[in-house]
Amino acid sequence: MEIPSEQATSLCSHCDRAIPVSNIDLHFAHCSRNLERCKVCGDMVPRKHAEEHYANTHAPVACSLCSETVDREILAVHKGENCPQRIVTCEYCEFPLPAVDLFKHQEVCGNRTEFCHLCSRYIRLRERNDHEIKFHSGRLDDNPGTSRDAALPERDHDAERRQPNGLSQRRLLFTIAITGIAVIMGSIFLQRKADTNQLQ
Ligand SMILES: [Zn+2]
Ligand SMILES: [Zn+2]
Ligand SMILES: [Zn+2]
Ligand SMILES: [Zn+2]
Ligand SMILES: [Zn+2]
Repeated sequence: MEIPSEQATSLCSHCDRAIPVSNIDLHFAHCSRNLERCKVCGDMVPRKHAEEHYANTHAPVACSLCSETVDREILAVHKGENCPQRIVTCEYCEFPLPAVDLFKHQEVCGNRTEFCHLCSRYIRLRERNDHEIKFHSGRLDDNPGTSRDAALPERDHDAERRQPNGLSQRRLLFTIAITGIAVIMGSIFLQRKADTNQLQ
């Protein structure tokens, strides 16, 4: 409500708002009976909705991924960085999986080897970055013998990568994995589509 500037006001001792002097008694009676100050955010909320206000605004919430109860202020950080069920990608094959499974997966995945064409020997994936830095510093040697046709969706994790050197080869592996899945999925969809077409 706009208060005309020339009108004298008085502070309501309950809500601390400036109230026109002519209304202050009525306001105070109403205010002190119906409103209370939220102890968390300091807003004045209707007494009968105080619990609702707390529940909707301040109460801890269950994470939709792991169903753990967390303070809502840290929910975003929890989901992005701490939740055991948040989806992360394996640094070796880029397969997306829950964070809680990442360590075990990478233990196995990083032990796989890959043939280095420059050295003509097999390198463990977990040692590949060090290997490339040490022996092929900064080079992105695209493997010429393997198809890279499958288009990769742009991923926003790129910036987080610690080692840009292994990127092309990781992508390659990922492409192979995705291509395999895509072929399987594709055949299923095509089958479905064929079925649908027959029905029409
Ligand atoms: Zn008041
Ligand atoms: Zn509040
Ligand atoms: Zn969670
Ligand atoms: Zn992996
Ligand atoms: Zn090498």
